Amino acid sequence: MNKTPRKRSRGSGTYISQSYRTHGIVLRTYKLAEADRIIVILTADHGQIRAVAKGVRRTTSKFGSTLEPFMHTRLQLVPRRNMHMIVQTETIHPYGMMLTNDYDSFGAASAMVETAEQLTRDEDITGASQQYRLLHGAIAALARRAASPIMLLTSYLLRALAIAGWAPTFDECSKCGVEGRHNWLSVPLGGVVCDDCAPPQTPYATDDVVALLAALLAGDWKVVSQAEPAQTRQATSFVAQYLQYHLEKTLQSLSVMDQG
Ligand SMILES: [Zn+2]
Repeated sequence: MNKTPRKRSRGSGTYISQSYRTHGIVLRTYKLAEADRIIVILTADHGQIRAVAKGVRRTTSKFGSTLEPFMHTRLQLVPRRNMHMIVQTETIHPYGMMLTNDYDSFGAASAMVETAEQLTRDEDITGASQQYRLLHGAIAALARRAASPIMLLTSYLLRALAIAGWAPTFDECSKCGVEGRHNWLSVPLGGVVCDDCAPPQTPYATDDVVALLAALLAGDWKVVSQAEPAQTRQATSFVAQYLQYHLEKTLQSLSVMDQG
């Protein structure tokens, strides 16, 4: 990044001296006025921020593609009363460009950033920093095609929910706590439940599906890679329902999980 001279600018002597630097993943953007955008970013150390990028929609903009969704970007910002302003950017990892040419990866990344935006909206810095590290790892794994996009997404969602305080349970009854392999899979009760605790109509899951869910939560990719398509479908369906149960808003991008 070029050094920004500390000089009077735009009528304010403190314009640059109050600026701060951070880096983060771009979650989404909104159009603002003629050529500007509001950029929503999950940063490594400042939580989720919303900032204005002036002139970013002009083809000649100095920001280039650094503020497109999924990009990992270094930022210099100036605090303003209503919303911070982005003054300089530099790409660290061009994940946005790496993901645009693969439909499934792009869909999975879209669901990840939409979830991250929801989960970090009112989150404290500690929780948001954990969410940042998880999201960055998941987007990077998508970009290098480390596993199937739908499995990377499902694993990401389970772990993001766990950080948010909604860790599902797959190794003991999530209601009474009795240990062992249970096969009733309850969204409202947060995981598997034993025969005694399972409410009527609770869906049944085979041992393989429960083991797959536990592996996705733990990041055990050896188990995940051996899963059959039918198990994968049931596991992703449970995770999509479990996520939706805990979020207030319906996530449009979750439709990618219907493909199983
Ligand atoms: Zn029980």
